[in-house]
Amino acid sequence: MKIVMLGAPGAGKGTQAERIADKYQIPHISTGDIFRANIKAGTELGKKAKSYMDQGLLVPDSLTVDLLMDRIGQADCKDGYILDGFPRTIPQAESLKKALSDKGEALDFAVNVDVPDENIVARMSGRRACPKCGATYHIAYAAPKKEGVCDKCGAELILRDDDKPETVANRLKVYHDQTQPLIDYYTKENILHTVDGTQDMEKVFADIVKILGA
Ligand code: ADP
Ligand code: AMP
Repeated sequence: MKIVMLGAPGAGKGTQAERIADKYQIPHISTGDIFRANIKAGTELGKKAKSYMDQGLLVPDSLTVDLLMDRIGQADCKDGYILDGFPRTIPQAESLKKALSDKGEALDFAVNVDVPDENIVARMSGRRACPKCGATYHIAYAAPKKEGVCDKCGAELILRDDDKPETVANRLKVYHDQTQPLIDYYTKENILHTVDGTQDMEKVFADIVKILGA
């Protein structure tokens, strides 16, 4: 099963992708996580990506597409995967489609987690991330057992630099300009399904499972 998650930054793509990956036993691939891991490791790619991410801009397709293609070519992806944060532009979607069709494959589902802009700032300012294992929390809606500490690995949680309100406004603009057109794109491909992402996490998950099938 090959799935892409669509939705504004902070809509809950990562939260749901992690659970879907677990239920269907497929890898959860987040380009944002891959860039953050590169930033942490101090790679050239990380240095380049950081300059865009800190401004709330997209990392150029030239740095993103090959990285993703390489990842989905790895052995653990042979039975499918869930992409979270890719594609974010029409050219990325076209590259993915071409790479898959060259192998006689295609995406199965595009799941759009729909959350209006008004809710996004609260989601992002309350998000806390684990810099070590990538787990995501929310101070009000998904709090860790011990404040400020990751349940999974014990590391100290952080507010992502790009979750600060001034950057969030840019990220939302970039989303509407460059990523939202993918909703029409995947509607035309006949694989788009939209879920109401303002519901609680359990209900959003149940709606997605209904779409994907048990
Ligand atoms: P994305 O991957 O789309 O950027 P996340 O999955 O990281 O978004 O979610 C953004 C923030 O909102 C996180 O702090 C997460 O815990 C919280 N969150 C996710 N889904 C919901 C929900 N249905 N209701 C309330 N908060 C949510
Ligand atoms: P995310 O963790 O998905 O919120 O992504 C964080 C940031 O990483 C984004 O704001 C972009 O700067 C960058 N990024 C992640 N995925 C992509 C992508 N597919 N294309 C371009 N930039 C991306």
